[in-house]
Amino acid sequence: CGIVGYVGPRTSEKALGVVMEGLGRLEYRGYDSAGVAVVEDDGVQTRKRAGKLANLQQALADAPLPPTATAIGHTRWATHGGPTDANAHPHRGGADGKLALVHNGIIENFHALKSSLLEDGVSFTSETDTEVVAHLVERAFGRTGDLTDAMREVVGTLEGAFTLLAVHADQPEVVVGARRNSPLVVGLGEGENYLGSDVAAFIGHTRQALELGQDQIVTISPDTYTVINFDGSPSDGKTYEVTWDA
Ligand code: GLU
Repeated sequence: CGIVGYVGPRTSEKALGVVMEGLGRLEYRGYDSAGVAVVEDDGVQTRKRAGKLANLQQALADAPLPPTATAIGHTRWATHGGPTDANAHPHRGGADGKLALVHNGIIENFHALKSSLLEDGVSFTSETDTEVVAHLVERAFGRTGDLTDAMREVVGTLEGAFTLLAVHADQPEVVVGARRNSPLVVGLGEGENYLGSDVAAFIGHTRQALELGQDQIVTISPDTYTVINFDGSPSDGKTYEVTWDA
């Protein structure tokens, strides 16, 4: 029930730190599992656990993740598949471990999408509706070579409610987010940018924010953010200052 994303200076402890802190600030929304992914040039690494954030913290203490520019995190409220480690997000797409994706919401047409992926020989490691999207975005990346283009291609095929974040090792300093019927806010920093399902996710770091509209995609890098609509047209979203205490 919460999502956090961050991209900033290269090989910093900050990325994972910001994401774990943000997940803590979103705990009040309720959740049954939590997970994170960090992005390296040759792949994406994840840690995820059913239960409280303390379980994820323990997993990170047992098997630390490297410093990176980019990290994403998720707290889950299970809708498809029980609250297990395997069903916790982030989910991976493809066999090469280069893509990770998190999702809040429900993909209503996941069954049909999953059937055609299974026919194509894709194997699944979870029972979630979300893993379908991870495989679809990874396959679209294979065709387009760009995570924003891949996300745009896939969201056009999805029905339901979703906030999605995706990262890919071939674009290690980029996070792409998309939303429909579910919230996503951008936090703007200096040489770093944030994404959150709610401003609480990043309020400790920046108060400059941009709320995405319905059916929009945002791409953040350390120094840039770009918003487009699902139809590909550009959007110049209005930024605002968060003046309340989240
Ligand atoms: N439908 C997804 C799942 O069950 C996401 C649930 C959520 O919003 O956390 O994994």
